Amino acid sequence: VLTTQDEDTISSIITGLSAGSVSIIRLSGTDAVPIALKAFRPGGRFRIGWKPASHRVYYGTAVDGDENVLDEVLLLVMLSPRSYTAEDVVEFHCHGGGVCAGRVQRALIEAGARPAKPGEFTLRAFLNGRLDLAQAESVSELVGARTAAAADSALAGLRGGVGAAVSGMRRQCLDLLAELEARLDFDEDLPPIDVPALKGQIEAIQAGIEQALRTARAGSLLRRGLQVAIVGRPNVGKSSLLNAWTNSDRAIVTEIAGTTRDVLEAQLSVGGVPVTLLDTAGIRDSTDLVERIGVERSQAAAAAADVVIMVVDGAEGWTDADAEIYRSLWGDGPGSATCRVRGPALLVANKDDLRAQAAAPAGVAANGAGGATASSDEQAPLPLPLLAKETFTATVRTSAFNRKGLEALDAALLGLAGAPQLAASGGVSWAVNERQAEALVRSHEALMRLSESVAADLPLDFWTIDLRAALLALGEVSGDEVAEEVLDNVFSRFCIGK
Ligand code: GDP
Ligand code: ZN
Repeated sequence: VLTTQDEDTISSIITGLSAGSVSIIRLSGTDAVPIALKAFRPGGRFRIGWKPASHRVYYGTAVDGDENVLDEVLLLVMLSPRSYTAEDVVEFHCHGGGVCAGRVQRALIEAGARPAKPGEFTLRAFLNGRLDLAQAESVSELVGARTAAAADSALAGLRGGVGAAVSGMRRQCLDLLAELEARLDFDEDLPPIDVPALKGQIEAIQAGIEQALRTARAGSLLRRGLQVAIVGRPNVGKSSLLNAWTNSDRAIVTEIAGTTRDVLEAQLSVGGVPVTLLDTAGIRDSTDLVERIGVERSQAAAAAADVVIMVVDGAEGWTDADAEIYRSLWGDGPGSATCRVRGPALLVANKDDLRAQAAAPAGVAANGAGGATASSDEQAPLPLPLLAKETFTATVRTSAFNRKGLEALDAALLGLAGAPQLAASGGVSWAVNERQAEALVRSHEALMRLSESVAADLPLDFWTIDLRAALLALGEVSGDEVAEEVLDNVFSRFCIGK
């Protein structure tokens, strides 16, 4: 099992395996220094019995058991407890590209190290008390962050946010438990329990849990992001909108209807939320095989997406062709048996610049007074049939062409995803993850039962049972009380070398 603490010295390449000019191999454990010295020859004058000092960098070569030179390296020694794992740690900084690092790693294994399992360095940091469990999880989140806001949130967690909040609640529970248990043991000598005060204390802990749980939605958005499918008939400007929104030229934009055949993906940050845009082929009945596959893909993408954005031509308004596409995705409306879309939806009326032109008085240049007309009713509603009106939470008018309406689109998407507060506040704080939220909910439930036992005037033993359950669940968040399976589950999700 991963979590059995052993005396092995572990070793792994800890830098990314793709191109890069430096690769780092980390050794951790009681034999880190002797194992490293079997594979390291310092440059310059070399004395028998030489020993590296802690927190200094040495230049030299890495060698295998037959003294073949494997690479020119820098050696960095960090002796216990001033290291990531709190054990003796030695790092080899090799040339990048994978070959050198691979050879040095093999030499270290030959010299007596064991390949590290995913998350094993961080697991040791946790087992050695350098990080609590919530902090350890933040390490993995920080490495996997896709936006600056997600990184900020993970960093706040790494600096102790979740763990500190929860250990405060645990302390409060422990105080209560001590008071109840004292009554169990020496009932006669102590004044009776102040029940209203006890209720107040329970409610205060519950309020703290609720506050922590309120961060869960933001946390899940920051970690997992949103999958957004862009659907609509050919030529309404889906690919152009994706390009304008992501500021890239990833999607192929052409004037021939039906050329975006595959599902294209683009990543962007919307108010700190990592968003994956899926530009689907124009949905329509087709006899062309490739195109039909594209249509099926876009239906699948719409079905799997967290949010669907349907694009129509804002100058033309809602057409019969749009109604047909609507039916192919939403059937008889959200929640109906024929509906393929599970998430909420936005309507985008694109090509708003053309509507402005059409509205301009005859003879006036489109880029003159036409623009003024557009701004006077920029987000005018689009006449829609009732069913569509009920389906789309909001309609946003955009011009992919002029890059207009994109902020309104950001706001509409965040509002729909339940993250307006993320967009508003620049500073992102820690947020609980799903595992932590689940434990917090269990703790909250146990405190509810405790309140009920108190209200029903049940014997004190019942109270302590519920309080202990609450404590146990809180302990799972910080890792103070945690089953080995939970640790295995947490750390096996880490990447190799972390
Ligand atoms: P898709 O088939 O829905 O992906 O549509 P495209 O993005 O390929 O665009 C189809 C055509 O409409 C292209 O000629 C675009 O230049 C044009 N187009 C896209 N968005 C706009 C817009 O906002 N305004 C105007 N005037 N033309 C646009
Ligand atoms: Zn397209």
